[in-house]
Amino acid sequence: MSSPGPYDQTYRHLFRMAPPDTVQYGESDADVLSPSRGFMAGFDYTMQLQVGCPGGCLFCYVPSGPRFAPAAVRGPNGSRWGFEVRTKRNAIAKFQHHLEAGDLADRTVYWSGVTDPYAAPPVMTRALWETLCAAPAAWRPRRIAIQTRFRPDRDADLLARYARATTPADGGPPVLVSYSLGTDREDLIRAWERATPPFRQRMAAIQRLRERELCVVATLSPFGSWHDLCGALAQLDAWGVAYITLLFFKAAGPGATTPAPFRAYLAEAYPEVLDPTWQQEHLAIVQSVFGPERVLVGRPGFASLAGAWRC
Ligand code: SF4
Repeated sequence: MSSPGPYDQTYRHLFRMAPPDTVQYGESDADVLSPSRGFMAGFDYTMQLQVGCPGGCLFCYVPSGPRFAPAAVRGPNGSRWGFEVRTKRNAIAKFQHHLEAGDLADRTVYWSGVTDPYAAPPVMTRALWETLCAAPAAWRPRRIAIQTRFRPDRDADLLARYARATTPADGGPPVLVSYSLGTDREDLIRAWERATPPFRQRMAAIQRLRERELCVVATLSPFGSWHDLCGALAQLDAWGVAYITLLFFKAAGPGATTPAPFRAYLAEAYPEVLDPTWQQEHLAIVQSVFGPERVLVGRPGFASLAGAWRC
């Protein structure tokens, strides 16, 4: 019998049992749009095409918040997170209905915050952009912020077509990709994230989006240990990434959204990433490459995504 892989090992460490063998896929009748609340309240709506996220990141805050995902999708102590996914029935028809009703006109949409938008099937994301491209200008949102660590570049041409044909009144970008990069260490990605793309693919995705002149913000979250932080940042800057948002792991207290078992694991295995001194040193590195005015830490970084930052 082969030994467990890196993700299985971390999962066993956190939950004291083996991970589920397979991901269970089902369907949900839930709507695709919800009024924003909590830390996402700077947007008018959040959008999700799925309930649950196959990414299965062990640091993900979603399974520790009962408001963010149903109990059956989270499982006891978050142990089924990443293994229960419900795709929304008639998702594109529901989205079209909201467009036609004028619900989205000049509104801001965060896609998504509780499941990675690009973990959804390609046919769904493609249909969503085709629907937006066909919508009259007056129905279109002011801004759609895509929060992802998957491959939005598969829709790069459609995103670019939509962006070129859409001019928000506030002068900001109609589409903004907030691309999550927590580390360049493939060993950590494999140990902490069940099914997300490796770092090199994420960089390729960002490069492709920038080649289409799409607005990209690099979101260093949650900020882990890096092999070559300066090199990665210099590359992002050279590609024209607009700015950096950054979220450190917090050991405890308000704003410590990482599940407690994962924080305990970090304290044992990677205590530096919880250390405020180490964090400030790394913040200084990020600022030295992008400039302090292009590095937003914590909530201001998130709030900026809804605004009119020029790309
Ligand atoms: S991809 Fe995002 S939403 Fe999905 S599990 Fe990972 S952190 Fe959570």
